[in-house]
Amino acid sequence: MSDNTVILGAGFAGVSAAYHIRQRGGSPVVYERDADWGGLCGFFMLDGFRFDRFVHFTFAPDDYTRDLFEASSPTYSHPSVSGNYYHGHWLKHPAQNNLAPLATDEKVKIITDFIARPAAPADGFKNYDQWLRTQYGNYFTDNFPGVYTRKYWGLNASDMEAAWVAGRMHSPDLAQVLRGAFETQSENFYYTNFMKYPRHGGFRSLMDKCRAGTDIRFNQRAVQIDPATRRITFADGTAATYARLISSLPITEMVKMIADCPADVRAAADALHWTCGYQVSLGFRRPDVAKYLWFYIYDADIPPARVYSPNLKSPDNVPAGCSSLQAEVFFDCRDKIPDANRVLHDTTEKLKQICNFTDADIAVRDIRFEPYANITFAHGTRENREIVRNYLRSVGIETIGRFGTWDYLWSHQAFNTGRGL
Ligand SMILES: Cc1cc2nc3c(=O)[nH]c(=O)nc-3n(C[C@H](O)[C@H](O)[C@H](O)COP(=O)(O)OP(=O)(O)OC[C@H]3O[C@@H](n4cnc5c(N)ncnc54)[C@H](O)[C@@H]3O)c2cc1C
Repeated sequence: MSDNTVILGAGFAGVSAAYHIRQRGGSPVVYERDADWGGLCGFFMLDGFRFDRFVHFTFAPDDYTRDLFEASSPTYSHPSVSGNYYHGHWLKHPAQNNLAPLATDEKVKIITDFIARPAAPADGFKNYDQWLRTQYGNYFTDNFPGVYTRKYWGLNASDMEAAWVAGRMHSPDLAQVLRGAFETQSENFYYTNFMKYPRHGGFRSLMDKCRAGTDIRFNQRAVQIDPATRRITFADGTAATYARLISSLPITEMVKMIADCPADVRAAADALHWTCGYQVSLGFRRPDVAKYLWFYIYDADIPPARVYSPNLKSPDNVPAGCSSLQAEVFFDCRDKIPDANRVLHDTTEKLKQICNFTDADIAVRDIRFEPYANITFAHGTRENREIVRNYLRSVGIETIGRFGTWDYLWSHQAFNTGRGL
């Protein structure tokens, strides 16, 4: 018998919530806007090429999640080796530990500025820009992460707080920087040694076991919620009532669906920042276009911040004898978004130069837009998200997932927000 628990969104968080509630005897119903499940961890197919929605690997640290993922879909384990493209040079990641390919003059500027970098302030970092300068020095900050921040986060580093970085970026010491300036280092400085990816079925197959048996109603975009009558209205005019409501939708969208949401809550939601972005997906008739599992691009005049190779994640992602690339082009949610055809053209032309392929090599090309990619830690994020989440809680709506908790969560962390409900 139904306990009338409704879950909004069939991404990793929503499917995890449904699975764990079913494990305890419940029978939730999931309503999903799209025609398929997986959310940001889903994929699309183009003539035999599979593209995830942005680059995805798993590095879940806890046994429970790892075992469940692995039992759903056995994985390849890739060493976390990636590249950096910078003004015609290829540097192993992280760039400051591997400066060897750069010209002597530039290495000298980076290293002298690194030695003269400001000390960390005793009273905490004012912003992310200050954090970068104390870790890397001014020259490197201005030319590498400073530029990259605009490309990846759509904001200047000074417009972001610093606490979110916590362990995600390597802070080198002088010996490491010097060693890497003479020769590329073999040591891995990434936050995880291995990146796992399913052998078959794309990234979302990690959740196949959880998804099996879950009641998901597709093509059901929630547009209105009335907490007083516990009623959700969908875009097609149908409605559902609930005894319990759990949402993995962006909290910025949730407040717009509630007619009598207070003005201060709406203002807090309006102050939040996030990135949206294009995925430019290219499939090639050749097996050898993709050279890096993923790489970062620091040049401001090349649209993508990051490019990855679906066929190197798993050969199951391409037809035999083929390879593929997907480039990620991000914007702040308040940016004017450039035309898709322009971005597809400009990205393809730049990638032709840096990855050495021609139009004749391209078997499929595609561009699609994600309205929500990363939540951004602009100043005030923590305070504003608490105002919004507290309000939603007060009207009986539990929020989970990356956009429900409004946190920079990896997929296993989004999955974990669906446990214990
Ligand atoms: C560029 C990028 C790279 C990433 N790389 C990695 C990685 O390498 N490893 C990793 O572990 N994690 C990675 N992540 C993070 C990972 O994608 C997220 O943590 C995870 O997908 C969040 O799952 P979720 O269920 O919380 O949200 P979502 O996946 O966004 O799920 C929300 C669901 O709600 C649905 N929905 C939205 N609006 C409505 C509506 N009105 N009505 C009904 N349904 C609606 C959506 O269609 C979606 O299915 C990456 C994310 C990005 C953006």
